[in-house]
Parts: sequence; C-alpha cells; structure tokens
Amino acid sequence: MRVVVTGGAGFLGSHLCDALIARGDLVWCADDLCTSGPANLRHLLREPRFHFARSDISRSLDVPGPVDAVAHLASPASPPDYHSLPLQTLAVGSRGTENALGLALRHRARFVLASTSEVYGDPLVHPQPEEDWGHVNPIGPRSVYDEAKRYAEAVTMAYRRSEGVDTGIVRIFNTYGPRMRPYDGRVVSSFVRQALRGEPLTVYGDGSQTRSFCYVDDLVRGLLTMLDADVPGPVNLGNPEERTVGELARLVIELTGSGSPVRRLPLPEDDPTRRCPVIARAREQLGWSPEITLREGLRHTVEWFRSGPSQDDEARPRRISRDAAGV
Ligand code: UDP
Repeated sequence: MRVVVTGGAGFLGSHLCDALIARGDLVWCADDLCTSGPANLRHLLREPRFHFARSDISRSLDVPGPVDAVAHLASPASPPDYHSLPLQTLAVGSRGTENALGLALRHRARFVLASTSEVYGDPLVHPQPEEDWGHVNPIGPRSVYDEAKRYAEAVTMAYRRSEGVDTGIVRIFNTYGPRMRPYDGRVVSSFVRQALRGEPLTVYGDGSQTRSFCYVDDLVRGLLTMLDADVPGPVNLGNPEERTVGELARLVIELTGSGSPVRRLPLPEDDPTRRCPVIARAREQLGWSPEITLREGLRHTVEWFRSGPSQDDEARPRRISRDAAGV
C-alpha cells in the first residue's frame, strides 16, 4: 500500500511510519513540525519507500502518485501544546481534516481519523463506550482540541455518507512510550523526566483523577488493523488498566528508583476526573486488545528516557499569527 500519514513526525505518527515501512508499505509523511522535530524520522530519511514533506495540511494536501490509505494524525495533542496553539489546533482539526478527506476522496483511498477520548470530555458515563456522546465544555480552554476533534468526526461521517469515502474513526486514549517529548507537559513524560532528574513530581490536584495508559506499540498495532479493516467506527483504542495520577507517580518513582518527592500543583481547568475505555468494540470488530502492562511499558519508556536520545527540544509549540492560521 501507499499510505499518507499526516502528523507522521509526531510521537504516534513516527511509530506508525516505522510500522508501515517495516511491513513493506510506501509512506508519504506530511508534517509541519509545529510540535515535533526531525529526530523522530531521522532513521527513515534514507529509506527509499519513505518520503517526508514539510507542509501545513490546514492549507492544502496534495500528494503526487497513487494513494491507497490516509492516516490522519496531524494535530497538537498535549494540553500545553494545544493551549499555546489554539488557532492552529482548530485549523488542523477542521480544514486539515477536510483536506485529508478530499485527498482520500480523489484517490478512493481508505481514510482513518485519529480522534480522541477527549470527545467524551469530563465523562458522565464510566468507563466510556463509543455510544457515549460526551460532556464537553464548548468554551473552556480544552475546547480548541475537543471540539476540533468532534468536528473532525462529524466531517468524516459526512464524507462517508454523502461522498462514499471509506472512512474509519478511532478514539485514542492516553498513550505513552519512547519519543514522547520530555517537555510536552503530559503526565508520563513529565513524571519520568522529573524522576530521572531527582526533581519533584508535579501532581495536579489531589492526584485522584484517573487515566488509562496504553503503550505505543499496542496502539500502533490497533491503528494498522483499522487501516486494513472495513470498519467505520468509532472504535476506542486504549488500555482499560485505569490508574489514578497519584498511583502513576508512585509507580514511576519505584521503577526509576528515584528519591524525588511529590509536589502538588493546582488542577487545570476542566481536567477530566475519570477516563477509561470500553474496548469491547475493538476486540469484536478488530480483534485488537492491548498486551503490554503499564509496568512493562513504563520500563521501556524509562529506559528510553535514560538513554538520552537526541531530542528536538527546540520543537516546542510555535505560536502562529492569526494570519498564518488563516483566521
Ligand atoms: N498531570 C499531572 N502532572 C503533570 C501533568 C499532568 O498531575 O505534570 C495530570 C493532569 O492534570 C491529568 C492527567 O495527569 O489529570 C493526564 O494529563 P495529560 O496532560 O497527560 O493528558 P490528558 O489526559 O489530560 O489529556
């Protein structure tokens, strides 16, 4: 297959590119590098079946030659990133998704949208099945991401219903692993970085809020299965092993052997209280379920952070002007 991966330089995207190349596919990776850097792709640049195009897909997405599938992952994804790039996040979720769908339509290609557990907002139903319509604050600070992804789902379904595009939607729950940016502000990358440096682990609120953490290799296997499947979704992809943030802090301290204390900081506005996927649909329709436990996945992640990989630390979110966002 020849697969277009938008956001292919990012944490998830670069792992997906690796998996596609490993199984013999051709990959066209489009990324504007606004929250990632070339380090994630450096090892692929010599690969003849891999092509990198630095481009902002909110403006346009044209790919020469055949396209069999489009995996649309492009978006700032960590809360600090989308808070500092609100217009860009809305642009890529709306116009970027429309451009990616247009590409799939022109090529009669399979289209898979990387949606998010954030469409459930601060959920009233627990754990979250796909039937839950969500509980999102449309004007809160997280809304630039949540509503962009909700619009992305809506426009994906519209292209399916009115244009006959072969679409699939996956809702991705918290995912972690090697290639997370140490300063992306997410909880796993922050705790591991802080523990390894002997700095206090910054627990927001009382640490009783929960998340369910999926190791990146499991998640990418789910994405590949969805690309190959004839399944419209939405399908939750995540690990139903639910933990409080406080438990995660203790586990990271144990696995790193760190003497770091815990420092309590205020809970961010609209921080979801609980999050855990129901994955019955993924099991039934994709034959997918995660295999890597949190303990095992964190071990790999700690090892990777310890190895001091080359990081694009300059790749912090870049503010863009209203003009650049096309707004
Ligand atoms: N969190 C925390 N300390 C940090 C970063 C995050 O306690 O340094 C909390 C955050 O408030 C949330 C959870 O960890 O409750 C997961 O945050 P993350 O940003 O990783 O992802 P989210 O699921 O909120 O998008």
